[in-house]
Amino acid sequence: MSKIWGYRCTNNQLEKLLLPEQGEVDDLVRKYGEGVYTTLRTYHRNRVLFLKEHIYRLEHSAELSGVFLTVSEASVRDLIRALIQEANGKDIRIRLIVPFSSPETVIGMATFLTPPSMEDYRLGVAVETRRMHRDNPQAKVTEFIQKASEIRKQIGKEIHEVIMVDENGRLLEGLSSNFFAVHQGKVWTAGQGVLPGITRELVLKCVQELNLPLNLEGFPYQRLYEIEEAFLTSTSRGVLPVRKIDQYTVPQTPGKITTTLSTRFQERLNQLLEEV
Ligand code: PLP
Repeated sequence: MSKIWGYRCTNNQLEKLLLPEQGEVDDLVRKYGEGVYTTLRTYHRNRVLFLKEHIYRLEHSAELSGVFLTVSEASVRDLIRALIQEANGKDIRIRLIVPFSSPETVIGMATFLTPPSMEDYRLGVAVETRRMHRDNPQAKVTEFIQKASEIRKQIGKEIHEVIMVDENGRLLEGLSSNFFAVHQGKVWTAGQGVLPGITRELVLKCVQELNLPLNLEGFPYQRLYEIEEAFLTSTSRGVLPVRKIDQYTVPQTPGKITTTLSTRFQERLNQLLEEV
């Protein structure tokens, strides 16, 4: 079990949390009840991407549940700085949680970053699909972390991610990532029924800049065998190629469009990083 450390910030007051080695979120949910969360990572020790958007997403997720947050950006920055200080110069994954029971409190938990391997980026990862219904996919609520971790326990070790398929048979998104498919030069990713991931937004900007045709419907599962390239996007993965979807082997991994988008994404990311 990797090391986890955390802080709580209420009305600009920082307090170190005593966290158990495991059960990170479960433990907090037991203590504070349900809430909203977002996950970000550091780059080059003390830089982050789109902090404002992460805070906005926390607020928006809470509003969808009828809760209004009063957490300030300054307190989130203080909290992230405190987490970074304990990281010995290494990059970290940060989970920010705001409990509904205490909308002025933000809890930040950090672990050392374990991104996918170079081999995963080179050869792509295998994913599995699953039909699932979610009531409020736009909200990042802690209840979903628990549901996702239950599903992860049920899948094989070789499966990197589970892609949710809706009642109309559309490929939506992963448990912690957005899903993209490429068919005849057109980029497909679901525009509804998914979490508008922060990485997805930046990739969509790159799609626009590169003048690539885009379809914002989820790719139909029935036509899985027409997918030429596929990839996942998320904060911790960036752009990660997919080589297998259920029993189907994606023919181009990583394909030309995936590689072009991934390169453009990396360039934009480097321009947009900000010091905390
Ligand atoms: N979709 C879901 C359901 C997620 O939980 C996440 C992130 O955890 C994402 C997509 C990717 O979002 P982001 O790019 O903001 O990390």
